[in-house]
Amino acid sequence: MAEIELRICHMYPDLLNLYGDRGNVLSLIRRAELRGISVKLVPVSIGDEFDEKEFDIVFLGGGQDAEQNVIRKDFVDVKGPKVKEAIENGMVFLCICGGYQMLGHYYQEHDGTKIECLGAIDIYTVGEDIRYIQDTTYEADFLRKSTAGASDPAKDPGILYGFENHSGRTYLGPSVKPMAKVLEGAGNNGKDGYEGAIYNNVYCTYSHGSFLPKNPAMTDHLLSLALKRRYGEDYELPELSMENEEFARAALLRYKEKGNTAP
Ligand code: GLN
Repeated sequence: MAEIELRICHMYPDLLNLYGDRGNVLSLIRRAELRGISVKLVPVSIGDEFDEKEFDIVFLGGGQDAEQNVIRKDFVDVKGPKVKEAIENGMVFLCICGGYQMLGHYYQEHDGTKIECLGAIDIYTVGEDIRYIQDTTYEADFLRKSTAGASDPAKDPGILYGFENHSGRTYLGPSVKPMAKVLEGAGNNGKDGYEGAIYNNVYCTYSHGSFLPKNPAMTDHLLSLALKRRYGEDYELPELSMENEEFARAALLRYKEKGNTAP
């Protein structure tokens, strides 16, 4: 087969970049390159053109309310129509926290100020005074292949680990599915027991930082979706060991069991 290439758009890397969110991009690159896939990474920030045809996957990290206000005009008014079109055309997106909130109808800050957002997916977010700041564990059945479902959570692809830090409570409309069930933490709003959102090939989560490094099955899921979209449904992502990541997950579990806050 001819060379396989993955083109990643990192949107607003200079502004939406909390708690090591860039680690998600590094994970996508690493697990693609280890399979011999060549990767092109393009930063796209305020004033830069966004052309759907140039990318296979778009990453939006988290940001504080201040940064969300800074990107709002460019993201909603300038890039907005093209981003919406890309989402409707099935482009793969991973959006974290502030980036997740920006895809919805609006984000109301905890003081009542309303930020009009893109409205690309049917969600809205309301900020409250108390922030959710903690390690999180979720369960996502779509990541479990038939042979999986290991009793060891370090090796169970359906168990996701993360870290959340948000004042926003996000509520999903009927066209959007939650990404996972909350096992530990608050998730979308601390009430309904769900975390994140899926709409078409858009995956949103409140999990920051090392979300993909801690969750290689999720990394592979996104890579597979993006490459099938580009090269056709017959494309199969080559097998790749998750041993290193599972080793790190086991260490994380030992750390949590001791009652420490995971790094
Ligand atoms: N400003 C948002 C909130 O506090 C997002 C913060 C973030 O991305 N960590 O809810």
